[in-house]
This record gives sequence, C-alpha cells and structure tokens, in this order.
Amino acid sequence: MKRAAAGLLLFMLAAPAPAQEIYELLLKGGHVVDPKNRRNERLDIAVSAGKIRKIARGIPAAHGRRVVDVSDYYVTPGLIDIHAHFDAHGDPHSLNPDHNALRNGVTTAVDAGSSGWKTFEAFKSNVIDHASTRVLAFVNIVGGGMSGIDNEQDPGAMDPEAAARIARKYPETIVGIKTAHFQPATWDAVDRAVKAAELSKTIVMVDFQPKPGRGYRELILEHLRPGDIHTHVYGRVTPQLDERKVVRDYMWEARKRGVLFDVGHGAGSLWFRIAAPAVKQGFLPDTISTDIHKRSIMISRATMTNVMSKFLAMGMTLEQVIERSTINPARAIQRAELGSLEEGGVADIAVLEVRTGDFAFLDSGRAKLTAGKEIRCVLTVRNGQVVWDSEGLSVADWRDTGAYTNFK
Ligand SMILES: [Zn+2]
Repeated sequence: MKRAAAGLLLFMLAAPAPAQEIYELLLKGGHVVDPKNRRNERLDIAVSAGKIRKIARGIPAAHGRRVVDVSDYYVTPGLIDIHAHFDAHGDPHSLNPDHNALRNGVTTAVDAGSSGWKTFEAFKSNVIDHASTRVLAFVNIVGGGMSGIDNEQDPGAMDPEAAARIARKYPETIVGIKTAHFQPATWDAVDRAVKAAELSKTIVMVDFQPKPGRGYRELILEHLRPGDIHTHVYGRVTPQLDERKVVRDYMWEARKRGVLFDVGHGAGSLWFRIAAPAVKQGFLPDTISTDIHKRSIMISRATMTNVMSKFLAMGMTLEQVIERSTINPARAIQRAELGSLEEGGVADIAVLEVRTGDFAFLDSGRAKLTAGKEIRCVLTVRNGQVVWDSEGLSVADWRDTGAYTNFK
C-alpha cells in the first residue's frame, strides 16, 4: 500500500501541471445576485467562447485576457423581458430590439404578439434573425398581429389551428400565444388563444379588458390555465383591489391555481395607486416586464431597469426585483435554462448599478413616485461578448494603450 502511494506521488510530481485556461473575459469582484442558485455574494465570473466557464471567489486576474473590475456593481443573469414590442421594418409602434434591450441589461426579450400567425415568418426574417438580443415571441392569435386595433376585433381572424401550427414549426422561438385589445363582450379571443396554446403545448399571455358578462374573475379562475399569464396586472381596467384598496380574494386564489401575473408597464398599465398597495399587501408580480414600445419609453420611461427601479421604490427588495426579472420570467416562458448563471451555460450577464440620490418615476397616470435609489445597467454581456459598456469598464484609458487599434 505504502509503496503504491509513494509511486503515485512520484507520478504526480513528474506529470506536467495542467495548462491554466486563460479566460477571454473575467468579471472581478462584483456582488453577484443569482436568485435561482441562491447566490448573493461577491464572486468572480470567467467567460470564454460564449460560455460561463467558472464562477468562484478569487479567480486570479492573470487568468483573464480582459479583466473587468465590477466591484462597485451588482452582477446578475442577463435580464429577461417577457413583454416587449420590436419591429425594425416600419411598424409605427415598435422599436429595434438591440438598441432597447441590450443597453438595459436585457439579453432575452419576448415580443408579445406584434406579429400573428400570418406575419410571424416575415417578422422572424426581418427582425429576430438579425438581432444580437435573443428575441423570442408570443405569436398573436390574430393572423395579422397588432396591425391596428380594428384588425384585432374579428374572431374570424383568430385561428387556433393555424396559430398552433406556426408555434410548433418554430419551437425554439415561439413561447406562446398572445391575445390583446379585444373589445366585443365574448370569450372568443381568450378561448381561441388558450385552444392554440393547448394544441401547441405552450402558454397564453392575455391583455384583458373586462366587459359585461366577461369578467376578470372568470378570466383568471376559469378561462386561464395554470402557467398562463395575465399581463398588465397593475393596470387600470381590471379590478384587482376592492374599494378599501385591499387585494381581492380571487387574485390570491388565481395565484394559488398557478395563473401568473406580469407587469407589462407600457403606456397605460402601471399605476402606482394600484401597484403600491398591492405590493404592500404582498401581492408582488410574478414577472417584471416593460411592454416597451415607442410611446411607453417616453414619459413613463418603461425600460427594464426603470420598471425594476419602480418596484424597488415600492418596497420590494433588490433580490425580489432581480428574481422577477431573471429566473421567474425564464420559468414562465418554459426556458428554465435561461435566467441564471451556470458554469457551462450561456454567458448572458448584466452588470447593474444601484445609485443613491433623489430620483422620480412616472406612472401611466402621470403621477410621480420619489425614491432614493435607481437601478441602471452599466455593462451587458450577451453570448460572451460585451455589447454595452456605459462606463468603459472593459477597456483601458487611451493614454495607456499606445497606438491602439481595437476597432472591430
Ligand atoms: Zn403589449
């Protein structure tokens, strides 16, 4: 036994030390908040070839080709915005994904029904396939998608089989079915969307306006299935609170059934007078999302970090806010491999600053909430590449670089 052990030791001494991998990118000293893995501590993250290679304390700076000191910041999984509207080819209400997602730390954004089952393929080839952001989609139950409110009222344009067919054809991109803006007092839009989701084994996201005989309570207790999402949960048109501003029993009951409640801020759907009392009573959103479009980014500044800041200001903890912007949305859209930091997983990472000072946030009703903190994205890594760096954290001072030629 002794001899064998001695032999092994000799062998180990004689063997060359394994070559240390030099990582392409090393984020050092950041406060990592990764709710899925219950990380809430200072850790280094090493990245190479689009993947996270190592998450640990004290990875030597010598092991990184590009070392970024992020010790003043929080480091989180790339944010996931499950309610956005993107379209780079002329839709007057839509925005370019990369310009609006990546600079706010969003590495995965889900277009919520801008395109329908007839127009999805054009949307995919014109927009999704050209984006650096991972753009996924809820496909609209209306064939033409959101091409004007009048076009979204005809049940004849809502075909569950056709919507399911396109969802099944592109399972890597389509996460579910969207219905929105439907005015007639019937269940056609919701029930056809649910049918399409059943046929394609996906989920539904509903934008809902109650009508006589078509109530919100029935929507969330009877028509939606566990895993389906009501977006605009703190909007003005659905009755979440009673006259005393108490969250109604059926909200809790629906949550118990597994119905999910999404923020979907948008131009008209976040009201502090509804959201603040609900949050105070513990009715937090399951997912934080922007409903970003050309109008909502203006007065109410409905970007991801702004919406997160608003919920931080309404009393949620930073960890709760990050959980609802990373792993919760990943699970909601059945992409559980996203929304966390994993060795061997894709390197989608957000570096966030929580600034202190005097800040003001505007809601959909043009009212103001003042706060002492604001969340801002300073650096975004998508698929291992730095795609946003507002403070120049990943580059050297020009005076130290000689005749630099880093332009790509
Ligand atoms: Zn929307």
